[in-house]
Amino acid sequence: AKAAGRDQLVCYDTQLRTRHLAQARMVDRLRDALEHDQLSVYYQPVVDFANDRWVTVEALARWETDEWSVSPDQFIPVAEDSGLIVALGTWVLRKACRDAAGWHRDHGTRLAVNVSVHQLREADFAAVVRTALADSGLPPGALSLEITESVLVGAGTQRTQAIAHLTELRAAGVVVAIDDFGTGFSSLSYLRTLPIDTIKIDRAFVPCAQTEDPQQVAMVRAIVELARGLGLGTVVEGVETSAQATVLKRLGCELGQGYHYGRPVPADVISATLAPENQP
Ligand code: C2E
Ligand code: CA
Ligand code: CA
Ligand code: CA
Repeated sequence: AKAAGRDQLVCYDTQLRTRHLAQARMVDRLRDALEHDQLSVYYQPVVDFANDRWVTVEALARWETDEWSVSPDQFIPVAEDSGLIVALGTWVLRKACRDAAGWHRDHGTRLAVNVSVHQLREADFAAVVRTALADSGLPPGALSLEITESVLVGAGTQRTQAIAHLTELRAAGVVVAIDDFGTGFSSLSYLRTLPIDTIKIDRAFVPCAQTEDPQQVAMVRAIVELARGLGLGTVVEGVETSAQATVLKRLGCELGQGYHYGRPVPADVISATLAPENQP
């Protein structure tokens, strides 16, 4: 048994080393891709349940070529662990603001960008956002920053820094949303203390419309009620069918996002879809 144990240990160690190597290689290649402009940004529509109109597009980072692609669920964690997420996040923000400025000017479309907790801990984050807005011409009120509950984790000074950035940007008109709401483990009290405007309900809560699981429905209803009571907006993600859209709309969700309305697509596809001849 002892020998088997050691074998397992050796095997585990090798696997771990392989993984570390793979990870290190991925960081190098990602840094390279970032330097050589080989990343791209896709956009997914967020619609108003009341009229099915696109109100916002969410910017989502992509790393792909004609031959292969790496999913964000793989490279974003690597970027987070290596600290590269700060440069990557700034690149996405600047690119997305440039793309979205015209959409906002011509169609009133707003932009949502994901922000890592590592970005919020940088001393110059608010300045980076203000510069991206000024350089692109996108008004502050047209930008939402999507953050996660993890801003509450970490040393007190880092949290204070993050909250100071969000407070400053909100004062300038930028909207702050809590992403993946309901999947973290913190208490709900932060909803009153964090400077936020909107709750983005994680797709784990979206009821499967065929069964309309009463417990799922009760959860969404409670979250919507909570948001309303606190004066916060609601977006629900992972809307895949029109039946789900109907249920979520009835439950009082304001905005929805998901494959039912459109998958993430390159900027030129968004431009073409927003063109007047394609509007209902
Ligand atoms: P997220 O912010 O929660 O983004 C929504 C994810 O759900 C996207 O995955 C989107 O493609 C996917 N999705 C949209 N509608 C549906 C649907 O109806 N059904 C299902 N099953 N999935 C749907 P994606 O693009 O692979 O991104 C994954 C995550 O990577 C994002 O989750 C976000 O946390 C992170 N991410 C992506 N781009 C960035 C970025 O620029 N910065 C940071 N910090 N994180 C990013
Ligand atoms: Ca998001
Ligand atoms: Ca989300
Ligand atoms: Ca997510």
